[in-house]
This record gives sequence, C-alpha cells and structure tokens, in this order.
Amino acid sequence: MTTTGVAHVLVLGGGFAGLAAAQEIRKRARKRVAISLMDRRSYLVYVPNIASEVFANNNPMQSMRMPLVAVLEEDGVDFIQAEATAIDLDGRRVLYQPTERNGGAQGSTSYDFLVVALGAQLAYDRIPGFARHGHAVSDTFSGNRLRRYLSDASYQGGPIAVGSARFHQGTRGRPEWLPTADVACEEPVIETALGLLTWLQGQELASQVTLFSPGESLAPDAGLRAAQALLQFGEERGLRYRANVGDVSRLTPEGIQFASGENLEAEFSILVPDWVPAPLLQGLPVADEMGFVVTGESMRCPDFPDVFACGDCAALTVPKLAGIGRAQAEIVARQIAREVGAPSSEEEMEIRPRVVYLGDMGADQGFYIHSDVWFGGQTEVLRIGRIPRILKRSYRDMFFANGGKIPGWGVPFGEWAAEHLGT
Ligand SMILES: Cc1cc2nc3c(=O)[nH]c(=O)nc-3n(C[C@H](O)[C@H](O)[C@H](O)COP(=O)(O)OP(=O)(O)OC[C@H]3O[C@@H](n4cnc5c(N)ncnc54)[C@H](O)[C@@H]3O)c2cc1C
Repeated sequence: MTTTGVAHVLVLGGGFAGLAAAQEIRKRARKRVAISLMDRRSYLVYVPNIASEVFANNNPMQSMRMPLVAVLEEDGVDFIQAEATAIDLDGRRVLYQPTERNGGAQGSTSYDFLVVALGAQLAYDRIPGFARHGHAVSDTFSGNRLRRYLSDASYQGGPIAVGSARFHQGTRGRPEWLPTADVACEEPVIETALGLLTWLQGQELASQVTLFSPGESLAPDAGLRAAQALLQFGEERGLRYRANVGDVSRLTPEGIQFASGENLEAEFSILVPDWVPAPLLQGLPVADEMGFVVTGESMRCPDFPDVFACGDCAALTVPKLAGIGRAQAEIVARQIAREVGAPSSEEEMEIRPRVVYLGDMGADQGFYIHSDVWFGGQTEVLRIGRIPRILKRSYRDMFFANGGKIPGWGVPFGEWAAEHLGT
C-alpha cells in the first residue's frame, strides 16, 4: 500500500501491452490505485508499421516512436526509466537500475499488484552472420538501416530471402487449446515479403523474393485456408515459397544456411529470429522452462495471485501479436479493478484467443485476417484489398493521436469494416 492507503500497481514494460494495462487499470480502478510503469526507454516503439515506413523511405526512428512520459502523466501514472533487474515475488518488490545515465544507484520499489509486460527479446544475436548480411524491420534502428540500404542504391538487384527462425515455446502450464508454434509470429513476415514485392516493382527491379518458413505450413494460426490463399496471392505476383527448412543456422555472403542442410541464395535477407523472454524472468517460479510467464486465462499467475502478465512475455501469447497483448491487458485491468473494489461490469474476465491481423502491402493493397481455427474455433476470414491497408494506417494514426488509447468502438468497427465494406 502507498502512504495514502491505496494499492500500488507496478507495470513492467511500456510497450503495447504495458501501456494499455496502465491506461485500462486507471480507467477502471480510478483513484483506488497508484500506478507506476517502468521501462528502460522513454518511448514506445510502434513495430507494426515499421516495414511500410521503410518501403516508403520514411525514417521509422522519427515516425514510429511515441514518447511515453506525457501520455502516462495524463493518467497520473508515474514513469520509472530503469532496467528491471530482479523480481522478488515473496517480498513483492522489483529491483531496478536507472537507465538515463550510466552509474545510477540501484533502486527498488514494492507493489501490491505486479503486471509483467516486458515483451520478448528478438534473438538476432543467436544467428551467426546476421550483423553483416541480415536486415530487420522489428525495431526503428534496424528499419532505418534497411531503408538506407534500399534508398542509397547499395542494393542493385539479386535474390532476397524473407522469413523466420524457429520459435522455442515452453510447455509448462500450457493449456490444451494452445498448440505448438514453429514461428512466434509469421503474419508480419508475410506482410514484409509482399511489401517488398511492391517496392521492387516501384523500382523496376525484377528481383526474386523467396519467403521461407521453418515449419510445414505458413502461419497456421491464421487458418490454413486463409494463409494458403494469401500465399497464392503472393505467388501470382512472383513470390517464391520454401517450407520446412528448419531453423536458420547462419547467414553467409551467399545467403542462408538452414538446419535442414538446405541453402537459399540471397543478396540480402530480412529475418525475424527466435523470440526469447527477458533474462530476469528466466528461472522465476512464475515462468515456464523458457522464461515466459505462465498464467491462467485470467492472465493471473496461479501461485502468485498478485502477479499478472500480458503481451509477448506471457506464455499464453502465441502468436506474439500486439492485438492479443492488448486484449490481455484489458483482462488484467478488469481483474485488478475488481480486486480493489471498483464496480464490476459484465465484461469478459478471461482471454478468448483469436488472431486479428491487418497487413500493408503498399500500392493501396492490404490484407485482413481474422481467425480462431488454430485454437479450435470456426472463424477463418481473409480479405485482400484497399480497406485493410486504410484500416492499418488509420489504427496507427488513432494510436498516436490518442496517446495509445483506442476508443471502445475502434477494434469492433475495424473488424466490421474489414469484413463488410468490400475491398
Ligand atoms: C516486424 C514485426 C511486425 C509486427 N506487426 C504486427 C502487427 O501488424 N500487428 C500486431 O498485432 N502485432 C505485430 N507484431 C507483434 C508486436 O510487435 C508485438 O506483439 C508487440 O510489440 C508486443 O507488445 P509488448 O508490449 O508485449 O512487448 P514490447 O512491445 O516488446 O514492449 C516491451 C517493453 O518492455 C521494455 N523492457 C523489456 N525488458 C525490460 C527490462 N528488463 N526493464 C525495463 N524495461 C524492459 C522494453 O523496452 C519495451 O518497451 C509485429 C512484430 C514484428 C517483429
């Protein structure tokens, strides 16, 4: 409890999930809680549109970072710019190292409720040769490096490979409805390959783009029929596809070597590597054997009921998509609001897994996926056309304009528009 007698909620991580959790908790629990949010950096990286910014020759370091401090202050959320270094679950406190300036004294803060939203690390450092021969669109720095490479005429043509390394998912505490994924999140990889095809057309470069996948099927969480139809759309535009290549072993000047022994020729590659949890989570009693936080469908840790998780760091978040993390953050907020005595609503208190994805392929084309078949449901929708691209860009604009707050009608309206407004 704080000195004023209200419960202290500590949110670790200020990405999509952590920011949404802090805002939704404030909206529901109001003054019944004090909220702090800790992140090593003072801005949110808006990952979903980095690739389209790169292909449009816009620097994502300028356009895809949202400063956090003012946004949090609006909701009375205290920002701690620090690296969380250890979580003491029994003592209910978190140790941290301030990150704005080197040499800061280590601090600690206690909590009544802890929301772990630390995302996942993308393990490019585990792929030999990546630094010299690889490119990425998963952060603004790498995106800008690729933008420069494409725009300063360093690239003069030649085959390009786009794909993912294998994901290593934990099993401890995993519910039966959650299958094993070969890739943490493959929809963005498809989007990148299709956006690249459009970019090459614009440059009048007739280069070969090969999309590769470590598993048997491409993005099975999108629904096999939907993923197949999207792949066919790409193949009609010249995309090549290689399945079942296994993990990425190394990048070389000639291309990619896979664990299966196969090689893929590439002038350059755009990769998404394995997704691994933040080191401070590994070995904690709330984590699975990989380090992802195990929760029930209410996003609460079974043995530590004052601890919640949402977003990519949660073991239940597969595929690792911001939309899923946001839905989980809302569940967390409802749970905490109820705990502190806020009037309860009729809203759902458990996560209902589904994949909703908007892709931007450039040149007025986008795609929309809505599916829960991978989780045992019946929904499998794919739309390709102008509307999904408009929606993806509008969502980004709304996110930045409203400091991350999406009105209650935003997501349902987007889904309705994508599914009913034609293409
Ligand atoms: C190329 C690409 C495109 C994508 N496109 C889409 C898309 O179109 N739609 C979609 O739904 N999803 C998309 N995703 C997935 C999406 O980006 C993630 O699911 C989302 O960013 C996860 O949000 P998060 O808040 O859980 O984690 P993050 O966004 O990773 O945020 C975690 C935060 O925790 C902080 N942090 C981590 N460790 C510490 C520590 N020890 N101390 C302090 N702070 C720490 C980090 O600085 C970060 O701010 C895409 C992913 C990629 C790679």
